[in-house]
Amino acid sequence: MQRLRATLERIDRKGYAAYRDLSGSHDFGSFTLTVDRVQRDPFAPPSLIRVRTKENAFDSDLFENPVRRIAFEDFLTRSVERAIRRVVRGNRGSGGSGRVEIQRTSQIVLPRTSMVAAPDYAEARMAVGLPARGRSVDARAAKTVLLEELPEVVRRSLFPAPQGGVDRENARLHVEAVEDANFLRGRLPELGLMAFVADGAVLPRESGASDRPLGDGAVPFMSSEEYRVEVDLPNRGTISGMGVPGGITLVAGGGFHGKSTLLLALSWGVYDHVPGDGRELVVARGDAVKIRAEDGRSVTGVDISAIIGLLPGGRTTENFSTSNASGSTSQAANIAEAVEAGTSLLLVDEDTSATNFMIRDERMRELVKSEPISPFIDLVRPLHRSLGISTVVVVGGVGDYLDVADRVILLEDYRPSDATARSREVTEKFPPRALLAPREVHPPHERVIDPCSVDLRRGKRQAARGRGLQAIELGRERVDLSYIEQLAEAGQTEAVARIIGEWAAAGEVRKLRDLLTEAITSVSENGLDSLGSFRGHPGEMSLPRAQELAATINRVRPLRASPNA
Ligand code: ADP
Ligand code: MG
Repeated sequence: MQRLRATLERIDRKGYAAYRDLSGSHDFGSFTLTVDRVQRDPFAPPSLIRVRTKENAFDSDLFENPVRRIAFEDFLTRSVERAIRRVVRGNRGSGGSGRVEIQRTSQIVLPRTSMVAAPDYAEARMAVGLPARGRSVDARAAKTVLLEELPEVVRRSLFPAPQGGVDRENARLHVEAVEDANFLRGRLPELGLMAFVADGAVLPRESGASDRPLGDGAVPFMSSEEYRVEVDLPNRGTISGMGVPGGITLVAGGGFHGKSTLLLALSWGVYDHVPGDGRELVVARGDAVKIRAEDGRSVTGVDISAIIGLLPGGRTTENFSTSNASGSTSQAANIAEAVEAGTSLLLVDEDTSATNFMIRDERMRELVKSEPISPFIDLVRPLHRSLGISTVVVVGGVGDYLDVADRVILLEDYRPSDATARSREVTEKFPPRALLAPREVHPPHERVIDPCSVDLRRGKRQAARGRGLQAIELGRERVDLSYIEQLAEAGQTEAVARIIGEWAAAGEVRKLRDLLTEAITSVSENGLDSLGSFRGHPGEMSLPRAQELAATINRVRPLRASPNA
């Protein structure tokens, strides 16, 4: 600490590059500060630092297994986030001077590079804007930030009370809530369920722009008797809620009665949530994929023949590519790609689907004889029968779906009831529909992908990086991810970009499926740090799913892919 103070005094008012002298480790008594990378100027991305405590005084059962450790690390990251907000003034000069940051979290609990909880230390990976006046070192401000604010942030957020500011009980509740959710998701297969929504869960969000729970006026979820399931959890004890079995589940109801909200909650149920989110005990199979229409996207060599026959001009659909998909072909590709990446549950909302993909009515069948698309309504059963893939589909307008549903959940004023029997009575009043698809579907053929189609060069450098939540850059190519609905945080996007970058740099032609499995297994086992570009601060990353990694690769416009011979 003395050395750091002396260095700062020595470089005061020098050119900003003098901050380089801070590189390396500094002993702060109860923790060590390591400066891994010093920014070039006050306007560049902030400098990267790590703080490592010299002991881990928390009870070791908080991080005794991977699930608990991830939850505890998530807790500590949020704890640092909160302490920064309380303690750090920020804005101490030009550019990002005086800012202190840690990776931003969402409502979801994920493995992240921001925190490591080891038996004998906790390490937070952070960023600081080293203070400047104009473009010269402002040592006084730097001393305040590094020698006063930072130690106070560390004391408040990484040490348990009474020495530090972390409430042990809160840490325990956080870890136990995540452990329960994880356990619940793990029980789904034995319970014969694809998803589960606990009684009392709060599904609606604050607004279209915020993922926090709706405060006033939220109606807590309450299962109907027919679907009520009880489950024993390790910490919470017995809970009850709505179980969604396999097969085809229809969510019906009038407009604005909470259908899309329920489906979205299921789509986020592939992840664990923080306590207080309202969806802590809303879980779905971890490989569930929300499927939507996405016209304009590119598609590369995807086998959509199970869904769409010959296209105009006699184009076959076993190896379908386009740089500009239509609503229906994009949705067909999204399904085929999800099946290739591996999924047991499709989540489909009429609101975000192409109408001609969902259904074709009799009048239109009469008028248009040369329609190549098997509408989804005729595919849901074969998907389940042949490939074991279940579907939850939200439908407000297309009653024909009653014919193919195993069960119908009716939402009225956000409350579900079982309308399966009533829907049978309704369907009996109408003549049965003629099927427009074969009774069986085959899985799409798998593809091999060519790394040479991804050019990482950007000027003199190689680039594979995230650009916020919804885009990555590979060389000069920008990949738009705005319609990948189950990406939770920018850290996942960053990790996906780096995985693709590593594959492209290695230059190996791979089966897509193998690349997905190996990359996600390797990152889960070796940690996200293994994707870091140098020793020390690895950057801001969170663990992505194989499904989002696949979805990203599939949206790389110059991608070349071919059927696996
Ligand atoms: P639908 O898809 O049936 O048209 P939405 O799911 O879009 O309906 O919900 C309509 C509105 O009701 C949204 O603003 C949503 O936030 C709100 N909402 C949904 N579920 C609840 C609930 N349980 N309590 C209060 N408001 C809710
Ligand atoms: Mg809706």
